[in-house]
Amino acid sequence: MTATAAHSDHQPRPDQFGGPWGALLLTIVMPTVSFYLWSAVAQHGGSLWLPRSTAELLAMFPAPTWDAAAMFAAWLGLQALLYVYGPGRVVEGRPTEHGERAEYRINGLFAFAISAALLVAGIAVDLVSPSAVLAQLGPLLTIATLFAVVASALSYVAGRRRAHLERSTGNAIYDFYMGAILNPRIGRHDLKFFFESRIGMATWGAFAILMPAAELQATGSLSTAMLVVSLCQLFYIVDFFVFESNLLTMIDIIEENLGFMLWFAFLVWMPFNFTLQQQYVLAAHPSLATVAAIALVAMHVAGYYVFRDSNLQKQQFRRDPSQPIWGERPVTMDTARGTKLLLSGWWGLARHSNYLGDLTMALAWCLACGFGSIVPYFYFLYFAPLLLNRERRDNAMCKRKYGADWDRYCEKVPYRIVPFVY
Ligand code: NDP
Repeated sequence: MTATAAHSDHQPRPDQFGGPWGALLLTIVMPTVSFYLWSAVAQHGGSLWLPRSTAELLAMFPAPTWDAAAMFAAWLGLQALLYVYGPGRVVEGRPTEHGERAEYRINGLFAFAISAALLVAGIAVDLVSPSAVLAQLGPLLTIATLFAVVASALSYVAGRRRAHLERSTGNAIYDFYMGAILNPRIGRHDLKFFFESRIGMATWGAFAILMPAAELQATGSLSTAMLVVSLCQLFYIVDFFVFESNLLTMIDIIEENLGFMLWFAFLVWMPFNFTLQQQYVLAAHPSLATVAAIALVAMHVAGYYVFRDSNLQKQQFRRDPSQPIWGERPVTMDTARGTKLLLSGWWGLARHSNYLGDLTMALAWCLACGFGSIVPYFYFLYFAPLLLNRERRDNAMCKRKYGADWDRYCEKVPYRIVPFVY
């Protein structure tokens, strides 16, 4: 990484998510929601619940165990080893506003394939018991949360010590939540990239393997709901690793500092809350008719097509703006900033059709759990407002980046996420 700017006076106001009070609230609410949902499935049969006693309330925060700590450390160690020593290519990220250009090691597909193979082999030879691992889900949740808190505090301190303040605001609560450092690294290794890809996505994938295996271990067969959710999610996760370098152009990597919001998202929110559907299937055994399963897989495939095609169109356009889109020469817009904006394909229909595809898949996975409880719908219920908010935040960021050119683009492409509707 090369620093070309020593110091920046650019200190934005703490204005996202309701400023410092909103950040404080989210720092408390995000873990509470995660523990509550874990408890709803593990302790209350998959239903929403209200605590009737202090003891019941406290039971939703399981104590850490040595077994869970050993699993957590072993998984973290395995992922770090695969990241550092696994074969792969090194790719440069986009330059930051301080002129820094970081390098990233792209070997996630290899690392996930090895991790999944080790897990499946371990299960096959009875070295890994899926039900024993899932019995530690609560303690693992506690350990991952504690890790996120400590990591956020350390990265906040590291950010305050930087030669230039990376868009931190000086408000400790806000900067703890939103982060005070963009690309913290250990040596050449980028922590935000590692924890998003190799911990967030790969641990989600590991749970998506362990949960059907636990069902098979407990009942001797796989339910249709489990099959649909886990296969669709594993498809999504493997696809992520196939296109891992695309992460380098995502807002998380290029715009967001690494604070509690992202630490918690990568360590807890993604692996634990994104697998609530499978956790629910294990606890409540919902049935899913074959015809419904086929319809939901078709819905997933349609969502995937919109998601992947739109993201690829933008990637391809950023690499070579003259490449045809849907068989035609792309319509583009020059901007004063120097970079062009794409007006063809999905990016001419709505400003974030990629979010529509993602949401369609999310809904399909939730619907597979039937209508017995709202808990397995959490993924969609949180994801829809998240993407609605993300679109607004990206819109504001693009307005800052492109100024009047962005207004011109919005006039030409008036829809935000759903073409012709929203
Ligand atoms: P996008 O990939 O949509 O990137 C937005 C950026 O693209 C803008 O900041 C702008 O940056 C550029 N851009 C916008 N419009 C145009 C245009 N017309 N032509 C060219 N460039 C344009 O944002 P995200 O990182 O939010 O999303 C990426 C994917 O990740 C999405 O599919 C989303 O659904 C998914 N996602 C998944 C999450 C999950 O939890 N599963 C969470 C968040 C996202 P610039 O001009 O500087 O290049």
